[in-house]
Amino acid sequence: MDKIQMNTPLVEMDGDEMTRILWQIIKEELLFPYIDLKTEYYDLGLEHRNETDDQVTIDAAEATKKYGVAVKCATITPNKARMSEYDLKKMYKSPNGTIRAILDGTVFRAPIVVKGIEPCVKNWKKPITIARHAYGDVYKNTEFYIEKPGDAYLVFQGEDGEEKKELIHHFDGSGVLQGLHNVDASIESFARSCFSYALDTHQDLWFGSKDTISKTYDGRFKEVFNQVYETEFKEKFEAEGLEYFYSLIDDIVARIMKAEGGFIWACKNYDGDVMSDMVSSAFGSLAMMTSVLVSPHGYYEYEAAHGTVQRHYYRHLEGKETSTNSVATIFAWTGALRKRGELDGTEALVSFADKLEKATLSVIESGKMTKDLALITSIENPVVLNSRDFILAIREELDKLL
Ligand code: NAP
Ligand code: MG
Repeated sequence: MDKIQMNTPLVEMDGDEMTRILWQIIKEELLFPYIDLKTEYYDLGLEHRNETDDQVTIDAAEATKKYGVAVKCATITPNKARMSEYDLKKMYKSPNGTIRAILDGTVFRAPIVVKGIEPCVKNWKKPITIARHAYGDVYKNTEFYIEKPGDAYLVFQGEDGEEKKELIHHFDGSGVLQGLHNVDASIESFARSCFSYALDTHQDLWFGSKDTISKTYDGRFKEVFNQVYETEFKEKFEAEGLEYFYSLIDDIVARIMKAEGGFIWACKNYDGDVMSDMVSSAFGSLAMMTSVLVSPHGYYEYEAAHGTVQRHYYRHLEGKETSTNSVATIFAWTGALRKRGELDGTEALVSFADKLEKATLSVIESGKMTKDLALITSIENPVVLNSRDFILAIREELDKLL
């Protein structure tokens, strides 16, 4: 068989620990034999980030702007323990945060649905994709504790000297106080990313906020979504037979529990934080979640939703066997390859991505899986494979499909 050719390189961001090990095996066993893989390689492993003073992360994000599609391995976000473990020059920021700030995107997370791993919510038949706004609200708050009686005000001083001032509360005694904000530009690009991704993946878009109580703040989110929809997306949605549905967040939550899935749920920052954990655990496991950062300028960065699986890596370093689930990392590659193929018009690449995903799911459905899935599957007597053998089983299945 001739290898599939690529026109444009992918931006490849290598990472850390166990996922770095899986990354290498996936390339050797599932990609190199079939594709003449073209990537522009950036090593985001913590050692190399430290050597380059984290410049490599910025370069990788800039390359994503140039080529449009990136695939990223999980990476360590340094904390105190990592400072000494890797002898770091400084406590670098989360690479995902750095990349997101440069690409200005929204993260979409969707469960990988497979027979044998049943969602706890029995009527969920199709994935529910969560789109989380990643700017502002309580994540950029100002808050303090008030220890005595007094008046709290909300004050805005315009650069033109105009002032707005409103009493928040008269405190008779101690209490707490918090200030939140968001900006139109960020809400707009969030809305645009959500509508574009809905069109891209051919799914309805749901959005909920608390605009009955927060008429101005949450009301602004509702208004911006409406404006962006009416002016830029309505015609395209109607042509595709898709729906944009807005409702109160309480109503949305109630409907989600009764729904079949198969749509995108756009969430304000806090709602997305909390609800994505609920949705992913109800669907099974973080190792069975896809995650893609979509920028309003049309750049895509695919990754796994989980971390570097440190505990397994230490076992691996001790020479012990691991059974680490590579599905989310494989799907990061297939997502990126499919998008690259779609953008370049290389049908063979799109079809390869579909088949690799199919082979991965078939292996699990045949009862062969990693340990994390064996613990939750409804398939009787599952066969537990180690990290490498699971990938080799996928290769065997893939050969049958190609
Ligand atoms: P983690 O790597 O997601 O792992 C937490 C636990 O979840 C693991 O110990 C394992 O449980 C289970 N798990 C996660 N992924 C799995 C997989 N693919 N297969 C099997 N089991 C899996 O989170 P963490 O241990 O909190 O974080 C480790 C490092 O990852 C940290 O340095 C953090 O900064 C980084 N991180 C990176 C990203 C990212 O780059 N996107 C995201 C989150 C965290 P058992 O040990 O019980 O088997
Ligand atoms: Mg959370």
